[in-house]
Amino acid sequence: MKLVYVDNNATTRVDDEVLEEMLPYFKEYYGNPSSIHTFGRQVAGKIDTARERVANLLGADTTEIVFTSCGTESNNNAIHCSLEANPKKRHVITTKVEHPAILNVCRYFAKQGYEVTELGVDKDGMLDLDELRNSIKDNTAIVSIMYANNETGVIFPIEEIGKIVKEKGVLFHCDAVQVIGKAPINLKNSYIDLLSLSGHKLHAPKGIGVLFIRKGVRIDPLIIGGHQEDSRRSGTENVPYIIGLGKACELAKKFLKEEQTKVKSLRDKLEEGTKDKILNVKINGENSDRLPNTSNVSFEYIEGEAALLLLDMAGIATSSGSACTTGSAEPSHVLQAMGVPPAKSRGTIRFSLSRYNTNDEINYILEKLPPIIKRLQDLSPVFEDSQHS
Ligand code: PLP
Repeated sequence: MKLVYVDNNATTRVDDEVLEEMLPYFKEYYGNPSSIHTFGRQVAGKIDTARERVANLLGADTTEIVFTSCGTESNNNAIHCSLEANPKKRHVITTKVEHPAILNVCRYFAKQGYEVTELGVDKDGMLDLDELRNSIKDNTAIVSIMYANNETGVIFPIEEIGKIVKEKGVLFHCDAVQVIGKAPINLKNSYIDLLSLSGHKLHAPKGIGVLFIRKGVRIDPLIIGGHQEDSRRSGTENVPYIIGLGKACELAKKFLKEEQTKVKSLRDKLEEGTKDKILNVKINGENSDRLPNTSNVSFEYIEGEAALLLLDMAGIATSSGSACTTGSAEPSHVLQAMGVPPAKSRGTIRFSLSRYNTNDEINYILEKLPPIIKRLQDLSPVFEDSQHS
């Protein structure tokens, strides 16, 4: 059976070149980079190279790159530790559409007595920047706003947002997990103080991430121990994965143009074809600036989970909303915040492409998807009624 993977916002395939660079660091070069003997020195230099490659992709200084275990850890680190560093400031601002790795951290602090403002979005998934400006108070410790949404791909105007936050002298964290490698980023002249990224969203393995900490920003470490990463994240370095992430960042820079041209045109073809072949399709976030690879599509009178299973039987891997919320009966919190009615939100499928997808695969999806949606709509009593009214 043909297999088509279009769930790249959940995770990506490890690039062959990434894996190739990693492999010797399991069996041949397995030293601890803190050791001063040859084994240690062999790998310490490689970590420096990886750090340079990450810094180069982000337009950052190598001293600003801290390796973590994942995007979730980087996000936890940013929120936890900036609050700890500013004990008198007990207000956090975020948005209703963040990933649970921010929302649930903020809600944890709300339970500890912190005030948390969750900014809403409009029907296009956009923030009201005046609302943001007016929400910042003297005791606001941190504003955490994502760069691009994992479900809809909607990109926030992050530099405009950062300017507002920094004008008020508040720390600004950005969850950029979905944007790295899909859109250009340059932290050099940016307002972002702290930024999270995750390797497995850009063709590196799962279990490696980065927290960018701008020079001069003082936050305490989340994980305390043996002083690795300049005491900002202790724990013996995950050498092969750090090396893999470095290579993935180098490749991301090389393929950025392809993401914005080839991947985008495949995504656009998928959307146009879907609208042509299926009635009343709604592309969520379509009127906003979006990631070039993401398409969040609502179909009427179906359950997204049922469509997902039938697509899976046809060899097409997608997700309904985000992988993290799949399996929960709740409609997506992102679509809810955008005012998508629950009936429509439940009939939503997220397609997320990568540089590995081909034109043939998009044709295959466009062949299989319409009869699957029709079959499910025909089973729906509400659809039946709507056809007769
Ligand atoms: N932030 C966003 C926007 C994400 O999409 C994800 C993963 O889906 C994360 C954070 C969590 O990253 P990780 O899986 O590396 O913990």
